[in-house]
Amino acid sequence: MPRLIADPATRVAALRQERMPITDATSGSRLRLRAPEPADLTRLAVYLGRAPGPERAGYLGIVEEHEPSEPPATEPGVDWRTLRGCGAHLSDRDAGIFTTVQALANWHATHRFCPRCGSPTESAASGWVRRCTADGSEHFPRTDPSVIVSVTDADERLLLGRGLRWPAGHYSVLAGFVEPGESFEAAVVREVFEESGVRVTDVRYLADQPWPFPWSLMVGCTARATTTRLRPDPDEMAEVRWVSRDEYAELLRDGSIRVPGGISIARRLIERWLGQPVEVVAGRRVADRWGAR
Ligand SMILES: [Zn+2]
Repeated sequence: MPRLIADPATRVAALRQERMPITDATSGSRLRLRAPEPADLTRLAVYLGRAPGPERAGYLGIVEEHEPSEPPATEPGVDWRTLRGCGAHLSDRDAGIFTTVQALANWHATHRFCPRCGSPTESAASGWVRRCTADGSEHFPRTDPSVIVSVTDADERLLLGRGLRWPAGHYSVLAGFVEPGESFEAAVVREVFEESGVRVTDVRYLADQPWPFPWSLMVGCTARATTTRLRPDPDEMAEVRWVSRDEYAELLRDGSIRVPGGISIARRLIERWLGQPVEVVAGRRVADRWGAR
């Protein structure tokens, strides 16, 4: 790690208060990578790999969280933005870098003590391990699997829910963590029943997405409802409802429904059911302030 930080060819993706520096261009948004600086030796650094090509530049994620809270140096055309705020406009490479560094930073920040003996742990293996300073035990980054599911009934209506603390108009497809001993399929069946009272079958994997808030992996599925009567879980859901495509389009057009953020797999599941992007259906740019900063 010190060798990489000493090499001016190394490219650094800096993370500060969950934000990375982004340049916006008409062709899209890009991470503004920087050269290493001496202060990086004292910061949390995670090794991301080497670029292909003759230069083989090393890539590091550097967490600047512990800086004094001075505002980030403002450069023309550079904005410090969160992953939720800019992820939808980044290339796969840049989104992957941001997601990886954010997930590792979240994990380091909350795993400072050994689960065996309670002594402090320190970053090791280029940021991919935390090692106990007392007993040497190694602890690895967590990834918590969650399922998120597009449930449709025989009339092709979609099952949507609104969580207890979500503002009015915010609806999404149902989701929840996979519990110990469960397959993804079993988790879908249980979560949908718990949250809505609906029984489902025919669970199919569709796509997945790392979701570093704080360190999940969202597994997107579809499922077919075998019952339609709704019995929302009062401890978790403010409301669950069935919507047809026409109803959803109407709610979008009159602005009474808010769609999940542009980077989310929830948005993709809804658009897949809808058959087209929500903005096309709405006929205008859709308010997307759900979680974006
Ligand atoms: Zn220990």
